[in-house]
Amino acid sequence: MTLTASNALLSFGGILLLASLRAEAALSVTLNGTPCSVDNIVTRDVCIIGGGSTGTYSAIRLSDLGKTVMVVEEKNRLGGHTETYHDPVTGTPHDYSVVVWHDLDIVRNYFARLNVSLVKSSAGGSGAKQYFDFQTGKPLPNYSPGDPTPGLAAYAAQLAKYPYVEEGFDLHYPVPSDLLLPFGQFVKKHNLQSMGSLIFGFAQGLGDVFAQPTLYVMKNFGSDILKNIKTGFLTTAEHDNSLLYEHATADLGPNVLLNSQILAVDRSDREEAKVLVKTPSGVTLVKSRKLVFTIPPKLENLRGWDLSALERSLFRQFSNSGYYTAILRNSGLPSNLSLVNVSPHTEYNHAALPGLYGITPTGIENLLDVKYGSVNGLPDDQVKKDILSTAARLQVPGRTTGNPELAVYSRHTPFELTVPPKAIAGGFYKRLYGLQGQRHTYYTGAAFHTHDSSLLWQFTEALLPNITAV
Ligand SMILES: Cc1cc2nc3c(=O)[nH]c(=O)nc-3n(C[C@H](O)[C@H](O)[C@H](O)COP(=O)(O)OP(=O)(O)OC[C@H]3O[C@@H](n4cnc5c(N)ncnc54)[C@H](O)[C@@H]3O)c2cc1C
Repeated sequence: MTLTASNALLSFGGILLLASLRAEAALSVTLNGTPCSVDNIVTRDVCIIGGGSTGTYSAIRLSDLGKTVMVVEEKNRLGGHTETYHDPVTGTPHDYSVVVWHDLDIVRNYFARLNVSLVKSSAGGSGAKQYFDFQTGKPLPNYSPGDPTPGLAAYAAQLAKYPYVEEGFDLHYPVPSDLLLPFGQFVKKHNLQSMGSLIFGFAQGLGDVFAQPTLYVMKNFGSDILKNIKTGFLTTAEHDNSLLYEHATADLGPNVLLNSQILAVDRSDREEAKVLVKTPSGVTLVKSRKLVFTIPPKLENLRGWDLSALERSLFRQFSNSGYYTAILRNSGLPSNLSLVNVSPHTEYNHAALPGLYGITPTGIENLLDVKYGSVNGLPDDQVKKDILSTAARLQVPGRTTGNPELAVYSRHTPFELTVPPKAIAGGFYKRLYGLQGQRHTYYTGAAFHTHDSSLLWQFTEALLPNITAV
């Protein structure tokens, strides 16, 4: 082929164009000493890692305080543990994970800001309760959980000694020995036995609540919860708690990266942190002066992070419980009953874990809500199989033949992150909180306080002045 002057120019122009397209498509940056190609670079005041309860709250509040934000979330939606099933037949929503919040100004203001209406609600669930030994499937018609009132009153008196545990992990040292006792021993020491069954049901997700250090139980089941049990919690008027996150997603617009995986985090620069993210439309580098960290700080969740020796040594100490939710379809079980798992072989007749806490109505015919717990993480296949086989063996009067299947299933694991009493006494949380503000990073989320969205929003709100300071 003969190269003429004009097609030589065209080819040269084509190469230039290609080169410039490539330059746009792949910029080169260095993170943690490794050169990487990125498709685009965005700069924000704050990059928020995780778009669940605290990540979304941080994004909305920081935006309102005049900061530019970018949220990085691995799932295809904001909301984390908040999940709503929409029945395809009736369109009826059912919240099968987060159900209620505390009746507090911070909660009401946040929902008003996102234009989601709230109503009062009890946390007790609906449906007449019936007790079954889920291991044998047999009903326990004579079982009663008893009156928890005396135990609850004595527990409230104990809680009043440690008001600071409801605000975070700013503990008093030496840590009071009662807070380090396995909760089962604490119950006996202070004659709280009558509330044993109630607390097991309420503190779902904590694994073996009676083996956990009392500190974690008090943080999860504190005085404001006791108050709200009496006066009522809040839930969404539409009974669709995901609305909060749908409205937040619309509000935040392009400042959310969904379905996005963190490839690397480099916080070595004095001026800014760099977060390299694989998004559905390419690799994005987010540069920001501050990071808000809201994800479970387990080492396996932090691949690609430039963890310091201290961060690594702290995060590796966390153990976690397992918590799973599902909606059961075609089980043949009545749709209006609340079935509680009771074991004749446990101290407070609480469910033996791993296993189902119970099966409750969804308000939708033929669909039932299932909660499942374990002391550590389990494979999803094992949990699903156990849910189906347990449901199949329940000998409930009036049961019809069913063909049980899971309409939805969700893994909320790792759930409660804990460290042993010795670590707590030795200042683990003092060192953990010492990380606040170091290396551009501010920490919030359940591992830094407790699994309670309302209390977590309070905790996050208290961090904002530090995050917004120049
Ligand atoms: C079944 C169930 C019922 C509950 N009921 C209530 C209730 O009624 N009221 C209440 O107040 N609380 C309730 N909770 C607890 C509440 O959901 C949690 O306390 C709260 O969601 C914790 O907020 P968070 O921001 O720490 O975590 P999450 O809300 O879980 O948010 C973390 C987010 O980070 C994302 N993420 C994780 N790792 C990465 C990563 N590597 N990269 C990017 N993104 C990542 C996750 O996908 C998630 O969206 C319930 C929890 C469960 C599981």
